[in-house]
Amino acid sequence: MGLNEYKKKRDFDKTAEPAGKVAPTKPAKHLLYVIQKHRATSLHYDFRLEWKGVLLSWAVPKGPSLDPGTKRLAMQVEDHPIEYASFEGVIPEGEYGGGTVMVWDTGTWTPESPDVDAALATGDFKFTLHGKKLKGSWVLVRTRGFGGKPSWLLIKHRDEYASDVDVTTQEPKSIVSGRLLAQIAEEGGGDVAKAATGDPAPKVARKAAPKAAGGKPGASKTGSASRKKAKAASR
Ligand code: MN
Repeated sequence: MGLNEYKKKRDFDKTAEPAGKVAPTKPAKHLLYVIQKHRATSLHYDFRLEWKGVLLSWAVPKGPSLDPGTKRLAMQVEDHPIEYASFEGVIPEGEYGGGTVMVWDTGTWTPESPDVDAALATGDFKFTLHGKKLKGSWVLVRTRGFGGKPSWLLIKHRDEYASDVDVTTQEPKSIVSGRLLAQIAEEGGGDVAKAATGDPAPKVARKAAPKAAGGKPGASKTGSASRKKAKAASR
C-alpha cells in the first residue's frame, strides 16, 4: 500500500489531479466511498474505498449492477490519495488517464468482515455502502488475474437495495454537480465529443414525443414507471 505507483504515473505539472499524501487513519465509521466515472481510453467506473489513509481502487468497466445475479469485473489499480475523491474535471490528453472524470457517487462505507486486511488478502471482501446511488451490502471476490493485474468481481448482495434497475443508465449524472461527462469536459476545456460517448444517448426531444393519448401502456421502457422504481430502489 502507498502512493508510489500513483505518483510515478502522473506529472503534477500537467494534470490537475492531487499529488496527495497518505492521510492519518480515521475511525472506521467515517471511511470514505466514491465512484468516479472516467472516460479515458475507454469508459470505466473507478470504485474507491478509504482504507489506512489511501483509497483502495478498482476499475469497473461496466460499472456497478444492483442485480445480485450480475457480476461486474473490477480490476484492482494503484491506491489513490484520499483527496482524489473530490476530483471532477479533465485530465489532459496524453497524460496518464487522459479524459474526463465525474464524481458519480459518494458517501461512506463500513466493513462487514471483522478483519479487512485478512478479507482483502483472502480475496473475499464484504462491505456496506452508504452512498447516494449505491447502498446496502456488496462483495468483492478476487478471481483469476487478468493481464497481470489482480482481478475481482463486484457483486451486490441480496437485500432491500437490490434491484433490476440499470443504475448506470438511470442515474448518469455527477452526484456533486449534476453534470454529464460532456458538460464537465466542456467546462474543463476537454474533449467534449469523446466525453459525450460516455453519456447515455440523448433522449428523443420532448416536443417530438407523442402525448399519452394512443400510447400503449408500458411501451416506454425508460418511462416514468421505471424511474419511479429507480427512485424507490435508491431510498
Ligand atoms: Mn480511471
